[in-house]
Amino acid sequence: MLSVRGVTVRYDDVVALDDVSFDVGPEETVAVLGSSGSGKTTLLRVVAGLHVPDSGTVAWEGSDLAAVPPHLRRFGLVFQDFALFPHLDVAGNVGFGLRVAGMGGSDLASRVAHALQRVGLSGLGARRIEELSGGQAQRVALARTLATTPRLLLLDEPLGSLDPALRRGLAADLAATLAAEPVPTLLVTHDTDEAFALADRVAVMDRGRIVRIDTPEAVWQQPETAAVAALLGHSVVSGSFAGMTPGPGSSLAIRPDAVHLSPDGEHEATVIASAFRGPEWVVTVDVGGVRVPAAAAAHRRSGERVQVTVDRRAIAEVTP
Ligand code: ADP
Ligand code: MG
Repeated sequence: MLSVRGVTVRYDDVVALDDVSFDVGPEETVAVLGSSGSGKTTLLRVVAGLHVPDSGTVAWEGSDLAAVPPHLRRFGLVFQDFALFPHLDVAGNVGFGLRVAGMGGSDLASRVAHALQRVGLSGLGARRIEELSGGQAQRVALARTLATTPRLLLLDEPLGSLDPALRRGLAADLAATLAAEPVPTLLVTHDTDEAFALADRVAVMDRGRIVRIDTPEAVWQQPETAAVAALLGHSVVSGSFAGMTPGPGSSLAIRPDAVHLSPDGEHEATVIASAFRGPEWVVTVDVGGVRVPAAAAAHRRSGERVQVTVDRRAIAEVTP
């Protein structure tokens, strides 16, 4: 088990990590979700041993790693840009760490073949790096790290540099790969879908602090603070909405699935704009002065008066 306790990192006057504590359990995947600049890469570098924190500890199975250099931690870090070696083919990349460690011959070949099979790229060993799609390059980078049998996998924005249109499918592939791996995983991402698709628990990071850590469902249903709700794409409103009023100083976090256009809906609304989002239309509506997204079966004209239903279970009270 990985234990991070009270880790703080300062760069001059920037506090990149502020008293960060969490664990990654055996076979668990934890995703740190935060916007750009929130401290995610710094956290991975501290865990990997590439950056010494100003205070706090990183421990493995209860032993402090402060004196253990990166290459002896047996943690496998996959960089955001994958950092593949362009002059080596796929098998050369995947076997790189093993060759450096002195392995060769049929041992090396079978370890490489096994690592490629784990990421669904069997038979592509002779492929040149420049001939790979972005998704394949990501999997080669993962296989190269898995081949070294790390005891912890560290992934920096695993799908972040890939085409957004492909990301959802690739996230499902990566989730399947990670689920089949007995290796505990710490990944960091700015993408809520990616965090939810991959993680057993999500740690939400805001300006260097972990502000919420729980299962994806619990974080989604009870974001607890306005910052977490906003990061998840909920509409945060400080006043009343659809007959609900937050307590003093609190706000309402309205999930994107809370409001639906419906002919017999109990609330009047005005259409602001319509956008087609795959299986359905998302219509921005004004309900009593509050603008929220609403699901609709068809396009609606701007200015049109409509009725909406509001699912109160999809609205949570959040504190600042
Ligand atoms: P993320 O990966 O979430 O985008 P980073 O960990 O890269 O965030 O950065 C966190 C904060 O620390 C940012 O404000 C960034 O500008 C700052 N920072 C990161 N690395 C350095 C560095 N080597 N020197 C100075 N500031 C840094
Ligand atoms: Mg980063």
